[in-house]
Amino acid sequence: MKVLVLAKLHPEGLALLQQTCEVEVAPGLSEEEVVKKIPGCEAVIVRSKPKITKAVIDAGVHLKVIGRAGIGLDNVDVKYAESKGVRVVNTPEATTESVAEHVFALLLSKARDVPKADHSMREGKWMKNELMGKELMGKTLGIIGFGRIGSRLGEIAAAFGMKVIAYDVIDITERARDVGASVGTLDEVLRESDFISLHVPLLPSTRNLISQKEMEKMKQGAVLINTSRGGIVDEKALYEALTKKRIEAALDVYEAEPPAGSNLLTADGLVMTPHIAGSTEEGQMRAGIDVARKVVEALKS
Ligand code: NAD
Repeated sequence: MKVLVLAKLHPEGLALLQQTCEVEVAPGLSEEEVVKKIPGCEAVIVRSKPKITKAVIDAGVHLKVIGRAGIGLDNVDVKYAESKGVRVVNTPEATTESVAEHVFALLLSKARDVPKADHSMREGKWMKNELMGKELMGKTLGIIGFGRIGSRLGEIAAAFGMKVIAYDVIDITERARDVGASVGTLDEVLRESDFISLHVPLLPSTRNLISQKEMEKMKQGAVLINTSRGGIVDEKALYEALTKKRIEAALDVYEAEPPAGSNLLTADGLVMTPHIAGSTEEGQMRAGIDVARKVVEALKS
């Protein structure tokens, strides 16, 4: 059985695959190059790149399984794969902790203005009087999407003494009770929170979930954090809200990645990271091992 690994996979995941399969690691290939390589392979593994398109699936005449080390399946044509009898597996739990902790890195960066403090030091400034922070204790964190990451974030926030209010489209009463969070409507979360963090998948129903109307409901100076997917926050509306100093924000994900030429790159009140919320040693090791296990299982079944 041959597995084509099209992205950097953790060595422990590769070792697991090599116990039962022939493995070729070839990151950075174009779609054309993938189409040429795939006919001899029973499985292919990707991360958020490259794309597994109809053309790739059609060329994969022996393809049985597509593995995604990570959660988002935006780069895989899942419907088409399944219509051709090709299974698609991913690792939704692997980076839950990594993302929840990254939200806290962003939260604390905003609350204590760490990026500005760092830049000012390097510019030879000593902004001790200008940089006045905020404590998280007693502040309200609104969590939109209370699944794996949202509820883990709620636990961390509770340990910081934050009040947590969560909104989801499914019944989260029990999960919220376990975390010590209250449950609110989208409107209540928007109006009551000092910080709002988004943890919903990108679906037609969540595209531009947070747009101008929602930003207008947020408290003056509240911080909007998006580590879920670009497209969930309307970037044009966000740029305007930042420019008017209505709200502040922290983003890990963007409509276009990288967001080359975006006016957000010059906006004040915004902290940005390059889609790294799930990028930890531990998270990537779990993703590598989980995807390898699931691919081998699917090949054997
Ligand atoms: P999950 O499926 O466990 O939770 C998502 C929750 O969102 C579910 O409870 C669902 O009911 C809810 N939801 C769906 N539509 C909604 C809506 N319109 N309003 C409110 N809630 C809604 O997913 P998860 O593991 O918590 O991951 C959340 C997202 O995080 C993923 O979809 C992925 O895009 C993103 N993610 C990002 C990174 C990164 O590196 N930045 C890494 C991993 C995951």
